[in-house]
Amino acid sequence: MSDSPADDADSILACEECLPPAEAFAVVGNETRLSILESLWELDRPAAFSDLRRNVGMSDSAQFNYHLSKLRGQFVRKTDDGYEFRSAGRSVIAAVLSGTLNQDPQLQPFEVDGECVDCGASLVAHYEDEQVRIRCADCGRNHGGYSFPPGGLEDRTRAELMDAFNQRARHLSCLSADGVCPECSGRMETHLFEASEENGFDLDVRVEHECQRCHHTIYSSVGLVLLDDAEVVSFYRDHGIDLNTVPYWTLEWCVTDEYTTVEQAGDDGAWRITVVVPVDDEALVVSLDGDLDVLDAERRPRSAVGA
Ligand SMILES: [Zn+2]
Ligand SMILES: [Zn+2]
Repeated sequence: MSDSPADDADSILACEECLPPAEAFAVVGNETRLSILESLWELDRPAAFSDLRRNVGMSDSAQFNYHLSKLRGQFVRKTDDGYEFRSAGRSVIAAVLSGTLNQDPQLQPFEVDGECVDCGASLVAHYEDEQVRIRCADCGRNHGGYSFPPGGLEDRTRAELMDAFNQRARHLSCLSADGVCPECSGRMETHLFEASEENGFDLDVRVEHECQRCHHTIYSSVGLVLLDDAEVVSFYRDHGIDLNTVPYWTLEWCVTDEYTTVEQAGDDGAWRITVVVPVDDEALVVSLDGDLDVLDAERRPRSAVGA
């Protein structure tokens, strides 16, 4: 491994035969070729020419071969076992299945577990523009919102949908905090802002993760990035709770600032953040730096930290 980013970038081989994006889209922008990719996905194994053609339902062998040949190279490869996906072909099917390209489902708002951290009223999930948003039914306070592709609504009850959303929200914020863009795998940078109410959570301190490659941006609280922290997870486990199954929007230290203290320590103005995570009569006091890396975690009696 080289330490120099420039060396590493140079070491990525240029692809002589790769298609420019517009040509790649043109290749799959054809009903028969999409059917071939869908058939490969349905068959779920390397497929012989004749099996694939039968599955697509095309009797003209020459025509079928023409379309299949267009997909070969970039989207499909031929092996001794038959035709199979290359990664690009699988991505096309994943995009189709996610529903993002051509679906815009509507969902009536519905009540979810938990209560508003401000006023105690019930919480309601809304589905708008491919985002699940959780708001207070009474005062409207935002309890977070994240993208959720339309395909994820299929075959799920409301309860299953919210379980899936809970997992997705953690995954998105934790992956982003670890520096990897959930959309393009580019480099994600994390910044802290003294924030107002206009975006995401109603927080004084907002965490913003922005991809340096595709500019995809995710907002969260400081608490949310701690949901996969080993110390926090084992602290909950010691109290008999599997943190992974707790809806994040029911955790006050995730959706409010009341358990978070931010100071700019030192001459260099570096951030120092403390999050108090209370469970039963104990509290885990977690210290983080401005990159949201955990510096220290200490268990204290809850009464000693006033949480
Ligand atoms: Zn409320
Ligand atoms: Zn990105």
